[in-house]
Amino acid sequence: MDLLQIETETKHYPVYIGSGIIGKLKDFLTSQAKPISHIMVIADEKVYELHGDTLKNSLPSSIDYSVFTVPSGEEAKTLKVYDDCMTFAIDKGLDRQSCILAFGGGACGDLAGFVAATYMRGVRFVGLPTTILAHDSSVGGKVAVNHRLGKNMIGQFYHPEAVFYETEFLRSLPLKEIRSGMAEVIKHSLISDEAFYKMLKANLKTLTSIDQTFLINSLKQGIAVKAEIVGQDEREKGIRAYLNFGHTYGHSLENLEGYKGISHGEAVMTGMIFALFLSVKHAGLRFDLSEFTSWVKQVGYTSEAAAKHSFDEIYEVMTRDKKAENKIPQFVLLSEIGKPLLKRINKEDLKEAHDYVLAVG
Ligand code: NAD
Ligand code: ZN
Repeated sequence: MDLLQIETETKHYPVYIGSGIIGKLKDFLTSQAKPISHIMVIADEKVYELHGDTLKNSLPSSIDYSVFTVPSGEEAKTLKVYDDCMTFAIDKGLDRQSCILAFGGGACGDLAGFVAATYMRGVRFVGLPTTILAHDSSVGGKVAVNHRLGKNMIGQFYHPEAVFYETEFLRSLPLKEIRSGMAEVIKHSLISDEAFYKMLKANLKTLTSIDQTFLINSLKQGIAVKAEIVGQDEREKGIRAYLNFGHTYGHSLENLEGYKGISHGEAVMTGMIFALFLSVKHAGLRFDLSEFTSWVKQVGYTSEAAAKHSFDEIYEVMTRDKKAENKIPQFVLLSEIGKPLLKRINKEDLKEAHDYVLAVG
């Protein structure tokens, strides 16, 4: 068992991570200074089918609980499902001393966190993440649902009381979700620390049989990177933007694909190849790009989605980005591994990086 402490200006909370860690949930829930009156589990339906029994066995018998299952993945982050959660909570008589448990990947976590942030102006919640990607999403306090006109448009900064990251749940993850999550782990290494990056590069050869000890160790390091950054910049006024490495181009691919087919991490991996190319050309990064691209290809990443859209389409979406000023999008680049910076890049140079992405395939 391992414990990481998240310390932001507004909240301190523990992240417990490891095999069997869910066994500690009972004690945590029953030992709150302000006793919990009722537990509402908001569970991804697929995750609940696979691991619901384990979760139920980990809940204290002394606190009433109700389970509300929501559609698996992104389908959970709609205003309709949000409304259904509220109706369920009111029907069950949840009061302000209630606690919500978010049981699923990043999508369920974002929804459940937003329900917790807004039900009766805020009740406690605990994150029980079940994907690799959720090492990122369950820490840092961003919670949201989607609007039909835009992703994560309705949200809040709202932290959990604790996160219990049971790594046994990760064993049932489909390959696509492993691929998605590991891309964010690689991102955390590139923006923070060359030794972490080298460790990943030396040990990650395939996504089909990841060693548990290596995985837990990588997730812990990834969480520590995120914790350090959000600890310094909780509300994204400055360095929190570094977490968007690979995301401007990645988001535009996800957007053009209608958030279907391509996963977030797969899009971000393509975006990182794009950003690494720009870093070498415009930020002085000394880096063997072709070695990187052959490594990630061998591990199982592709940039196929980029070839489905013209540069102009991608550029148009990138310049719609919240952070674009005068239609010149801002990118997180690296001057060295572990040294991110923000830079605006003009259209011709972006086109060159896009062409590089297509060339490596
Ligand atoms: P997800 O929650 O969409 O889940 C992906 C799929 O995996 C779903 O079908 C789900 O049912 C399944 N699944 C989850 N756990 C499983 C398990 N243990 N075994 C088998 N199947 C399992 O995917 P995600 O990648 O974790 O999250 C993506 C979401 O996270 C997006 O909505 C994104 O916006 C959000 N996100 C939020 C933040 C943040 O800071 N709040 C950061 C990054 C991403
Ligand atoms: Zn991301």
